[in-house]
Amino acid sequence: MTPSTTFAGQTVALFGLGGSGLATALSLTAGGARVIACDDNPERMAAAAQAGIETGDLRQAAWADFAALVLAPGVPLTHPAPHWTVDLARGAGVPVIGDIELFCRERAATSLDAPFVAITGTNGKSTTTALIAHVLAEAGRDVQMGGNIGTAILSLEPPSPDRVHVIELSSFQIDLTPSLAPTLGVLLNLTPDHLDRHGDMARYAAIKERLVTGAAHAVVGIDDDFCRAIAGRRTGPTTRVHVGEAGEGPGILARNGVVIDGRRAPAEPVADLSGIGALRGAHNWQNAAVAYAVASALGVTPDVFAAALASFPGLPHRMEEVGRRGPVLFINDSKATNADSTEKALSAFRHVHWILGGKPKEGGIASLAPYFPRVAHAYLIGAATEDFAATLDGQVPFSRCGTLAAAVAEAAAAAERDGAPEPVVLLSPACASYDQFRSFEDRGDRFRSLVRALPGLRPPGA
Ligand code: ADP
Repeated sequence: MTPSTTFAGQTVALFGLGGSGLATALSLTAGGARVIACDDNPERMAAAAQAGIETGDLRQAAWADFAALVLAPGVPLTHPAPHWTVDLARGAGVPVIGDIELFCRERAATSLDAPFVAITGTNGKSTTTALIAHVLAEAGRDVQMGGNIGTAILSLEPPSPDRVHVIELSSFQIDLTPSLAPTLGVLLNLTPDHLDRHGDMARYAAIKERLVTGAAHAVVGIDDDFCRAIAGRRTGPTTRVHVGEAGEGPGILARNGVVIDGRRAPAEPVADLSGIGALRGAHNWQNAAVAYAVASALGVTPDVFAAALASFPGLPHRMEEVGRRGPVLFINDSKATNADSTEKALSAFRHVHWILGGKPKEGGIASLAPYFPRVAHAYLIGAATEDFAATLDGQVPFSRCGTLAAAVAEAAAAAERDGAPEPVVLLSPACASYDQFRSFEDRGDRFRSLVRALPGLRPPGA
């Protein structure tokens, strides 16, 4: 745990008692602050009290006594409307911050030289964060990974010059971190997302840009207009990462699945991603190239980077290889809850038995029509069945399977019979999971256990 000592002797209000809220309360208390914690959910209040945290009703509190309000990132700061605690804090002139800000203040106060890598972007944050942490660990570094992925930042070991913190940040977390100044600030890409919570695209991009502006060294993916403009406004050291045929300036390139260091003359191929199961698909070229930019800035050599890439296990539910049976490859891409994400998966394979459906999203799967020729057969599940059947009709043969169990059984049997060199049974639902599952993780876990139960299935590495 990282004790937060910068509020020692002061009283702090805290709202939002999920995992990071509990960790924050414990960190502030360990650092000598008094914390008054609150949540709308009485069960969370009871759990916090059980953990020894002082809870109280912040509606009735004397706000002038608080040195700060620490807000959980899921609680609205600005849009659609500020949470009532934010209004009360602002009325009393109390700063509103998040747990990442507490970490940044602690690092500034105790260990300013501690390497701190902060990663954001609309897509690929978790994959890139996990990949960077994996590469640094393989290079023998002491790595702490967390933030928006896995462990709350204040539950990690404290910052120190010989320990690297690799931290995924959502825009909500950046918005609550006014003194964000990482050693390396990574911005992968920007496309419209969460605009209900940020107002509009310009405001969303401006929040993400703060991570880059504050960084000592920035790594920016320049494949979209917003990020390219942000890289153009940088004045400090900046590494540009570009996926495509031609480079722009001396940066890192990913071309046809090969990461190339364009800063060297002549440009040097660093790693070939073809054959790395955990990094299938062109979207992962960007993630790998960005990971190389960060690793090389931290002194990792190209050969160590390339070797580490090959042993990256990947993240569950994102193009996760579940196993093989005969020539058939089974892939769990349950995280693909919309057509854009599913497009990434379909583009990575040539001959697909595609399991899809669930709670449909606006727009459905019509945008995926260019990939329909790759689909040998579609297996429909859940509430989207009739919508998707109408889109596929006449273009792709399909079955109405109802449940995931029926779809896996039918797809596995058909793929085994179909005679292609490497048929892929792909769960990439292009839908939310809530009609039949608790979450996309629950859906992916179920898929994995159904597949692993097939007779003769070989898990990866077996
Ligand atoms: P995040 O943490 O930003 O949600 P993940 O690493 O969990 O991102 O990946 C989620 C999905 O986003 C993947 O399944 C894939 O469809 C897509 N994706 C991953 N990396 C990228 C990228 N660099 N560019 C565009 N889409 C990506």
